[in-house]
Amino acid sequence: MTTPDSPALGFDSLAVHAGQAFDPTTGAVIPPVHFSTTYAQDGIGGLRGGYEYGRSGNPTRTALEQQLAAIEGGAHALSFASGLAAEDALLRSVLKPGDEVLLGSDVYGGTYRLIARILGPWGVGLRVVDMSDLDAVAAALQERPARILWVETPSNPQLLISDIAGLARLGHEAGALVVVDNTFASPALQQPLALGADVVVHSTTKYLGGHSDVVGGALVMNDDALAEQAKFLQFAAGAVSGPMDAWLTTRGIKTLAVRMQRHSENADAVARFLAAHDRVARVYYPGLPTHPGHDLAARQMSGFGGIVSLELADGPTARRFSESTRLFTLAESLGGVESLLNYPDEMTHASVRGTELAVPVELVRLSVGIEAVDDLITDLDAALSAL
Ligand SMILES: *Cc1c(COP(=O)(O)O)cnc(C)c1O
Repeated sequence: MTTPDSPALGFDSLAVHAGQAFDPTTGAVIPPVHFSTTYAQDGIGGLRGGYEYGRSGNPTRTALEQQLAAIEGGAHALSFASGLAAEDALLRSVLKPGDEVLLGSDVYGGTYRLIARILGPWGVGLRVVDMSDLDAVAAALQERPARILWVETPSNPQLLISDIAGLARLGHEAGALVVVDNTFASPALQQPLALGADVVVHSTTKYLGGHSDVVGGALVMNDDALAEQAKFLQFAAGAVSGPMDAWLTTRGIKTLAVRMQRHSENADAVARFLAAHDRVARVYYPGLPTHPGHDLAARQMSGFGGIVSLELADGPTARRFSESTRLFTLAESLGGVESLLNYPDEMTHASVRGTELAVPVELVRLSVGIEAVDDLITDLDAALSAL
């Protein structure tokens, strides 16, 4: 295979091969991890392959960025030390004092915190709107323009589904940059750039890394000038991913397609089990026909993903339930091969408590892993029965 980055390849092939050509000097099938921080020059400025210093460029990071661009169908990708570092680089590349961000009402709490508490004091404004309601978004943009429309779909933790193509249209009419945080779906299930978004943001810590062993983030986009600005900020501010982190993320991405398929199958079975359980008051999963965003998700995504949220019946039992499972580990984060359980009100969403982004206090979020689904259901059943 001489042109592994060929756009004619299918998603699963790109995930395995893009940016991953064998090492030309040794034939090593897996490209080596390049730890060197600096690069010998053949005379002053005589760079081999364009590399000079580890913050400005590293071959392992380049391999990851080529892979990321290919799987999201974008012209440019940039890899960062965390999802929030990627978001910060994008926001600071685009915004200036006086600009405003229109943010989905159910976005990752850290995104809200970054804009409200770090960029806010520098003069960046923030408004929150339900992105799953196109009329509400149109009204908000009519009231006042926004520089950025920030969309997360499915959202966290209520799995709201927003119409990316519709929002891209509305945002572009109003002159806004349309950004989609694609962490929950991953490009294996949803491709926002193809639906009209301008920039895709990832916490690669989640499904792309996929094994809960590396923190990272990424931006993917088509616009050359914006990519140039974001790359300059990546270099000038320096929140790059380290070589080992980049390599681990690359390895994770190679199995993304098969993992997402299994995550989706297991989550679907778990959601159906919970929906039929008398101790469960409500299940949030876009794969359930009763979910308000089901039809849109079926059109916009090629699978419904691995996250299921639930609310328990019988008053304040969410905390007790959260501490009662055995196979589902009580922990923050999501998207790894192992199943995790999170109580957002006191864990991942503690930073948005009392704000307009607060989550229902009875809500529990499951990141359904790739274990045997019968074992997962047995574990949940036992915890529910013990309440
Ligand atoms: C985790 C997460 C982030 C932040 O990413 P980090 O890698 O933790 O910095 C952003 N968006 C979503 C949807 C996330 O789940």
